[in-house]
Order: sequence, then C-alpha cells, then structure tokens
Amino acid sequence: MKQQRRFAEKQLVIATHNKGKLREITALFDGFDFTVIAADSLGLAEPEETETSFRGNALLKARAAAQASSLPALADDSGLAVAALDGAPGIYSARWAAPDGDFDKAMQRVHDELTRVGAKDFGATDLGATDLSAQFICALAVVWPDGDEVCVEGRVSGRISWPPRGNLGFGYDAIFQPDGYHQSFGEMAPQEKHAMSHRADAFAQLLQQVFTPSDAS
Ligand code: IMP
Repeated sequence: MKQQRRFAEKQLVIATHNKGKLREITALFDGFDFTVIAADSLGLAEPEETETSFRGNALLKARAAAQASSLPALADDSGLAVAALDGAPGIYSARWAAPDGDFDKAMQRVHDELTRVGAKDFGATDLGATDLSAQFICALAVVWPDGDEVCVEGRVSGRISWPPRGNLGFGYDAIFQPDGYHQSFGEMAPQEKHAMSHRADAFAQLLQQVFTPSDAS
C-alpha cells in the first residue's frame, strides 16, 4: 500500500471564501512551519459544489485551488445534519442561507422544519419528545498540484436548541448545543469550540496523516 505523503511544502492555500471557516482553519495552523494563503488573496474562483457528499465537495474545491494556484491546497466542506430532518441541511447548509448568506433565515428554517415534524420543546435544558439530535460534519481535503490527495471526515454530536444563543461563532453555531454542554457553539470561546468541533476532529486526523507541527520532536 502506498504510504501517505506528509506535507513538506512552504505554502498551503486555504480554499475557502467563508470568513468563519478561514478564521478557524488559520488558527488551527498556528505553530506550523509553513504559510497559509487565503484563496481570496490569490483571486481564486469558487467552484460550484456539484458533488453529493462532504468528501466529494471538499476534494472538488481543493483540486480546483491546487490546479489554479500550482500550490498544495486544503478545502473544507461542512455542514449541519439534523437527524429528524433526514440529515438536512447537510451538504446544502450554506445554500439554506442563500442568496445573501443569511443564517438567521437558515436557522429559522431548521426550527420551522423541526416544528413541522412535531418538535415543540427546544429549550437548552428541556428535552422534549422529538429527537432534536444533530451533528456537525466536516470533510477536510488536501490536494497537491501533482495530483496526490487525502481526505478525512470529522464529526461532533449535539442537539438543536431554540432560540439562537450567542454570537461568537458563525453559520448555525447559535442553535447547536454539543453533547454534555449547556452552552451553544455560539456562546463558546473560540478555543473551547476548537477543542471539540467537527473541524478539530478532522484536523486531528490530518495531523496523524499529513501535517507535522514545527515543535514536534
Ligand atoms: P460549505 O462547506 O461551503 O458548503 O458551507 C458549509 C456551511 O455549513 C457553512 O456556511 C455554515 O453555514 C455551516 N457550517 C459549517 N461548519 C460550521 C461551524 O463550525 N459552525 C456553524 N456552521 C457551520
């Protein structure tokens, strides 16, 4: 079996145009021996997400960025999967906020669709009869310009709570309460979210397989 290639380059393109993701991914790469470059700063176009899975879309975005920049690229495809909505919004998480990235509208839609399937008690500590369980899922793909690639998927489990709480995160953070916590992701300090998030889980897998921190002995 071919051994997984480790990252030995001096630059890595972060193939996202989402400011929240860029902020979190840049923070994850603090303490590494290479520079991260935002796709926006290279003027890279955002490809249409035509695949049907998080992994497929992450690979599609990383391949496009690696080809266009001739540099290795990392892409994130992620979203919220609500059990009682058969995994929706899932890969359509960003599209529920389209066309103007309005996540108040997208969170309201999660609430309304859950109400339609019978949810009533959305409070932070009040577990009603309806299954409000949900997961955030994150696929991270790294693609080198010569075609080598790797893709991992991370998850964090929790539940939907309503009304939205906190403005420290982005996207659906304000209605997601991770298992074992009373705070929503929107109420958590960034370091606390980074320690347990779907993105952190995926990133830990990339550390095993691809990236070595500069202080690793
Ligand atoms: P995409 O991966 O570009 O298709 O967008 C994924 C969407 O999922 C984002 O726009 C967010 O709405 C949502 N999402 C992904 N990760 C998070 C997160 O950590 N917190 C909140 N929302 C997220």
